[in-house]
Amino acid sequence: MDKKILDKFLDCAPENVHEVCASMWDMTSIVPFPKFDIVCSTCGCDKQILRQVSYHTRTGSPSKLRANVSFKCTKCSKVIIFGVVVPQEVWDRMGERRGFSYHDLRHFYGYE
Ligand SMILES: [Zn+2]
Repeated sequence: MDKKILDKFLDCAPENVHEVCASMWDMTSIVPFPKFDIVCSTCGCDKQILRQVSYHTRTGSPSKLRANVSFKCTKCSKVIIFGVVVPQEVWDRMGERRGFSYHDLRHFYGYE
């Protein structure tokens, strides 16, 4: 793991966290989508499937609205999960729903 990136995220001020997340994640869709390529740290494959997105609130943090975004490697099956702070408008887009499965997302992202 690149400790420099981890330090940068931990040092992120709550008033800046949305700007930092939006620099790495597209927040204009129904779920956060990475603006970067995901390369599997186990096998080096760069083909990942968006597997599941679940939303939750985190108590004790000024940035309460979160999404766990998981991808699965198409070669070795490793699952990679990102915990993304989401802005209120992304949260509101979900309505009463708090998650999407691969089956929900495959139509949207054209995996078929
Ligand atoms: Zn892999």
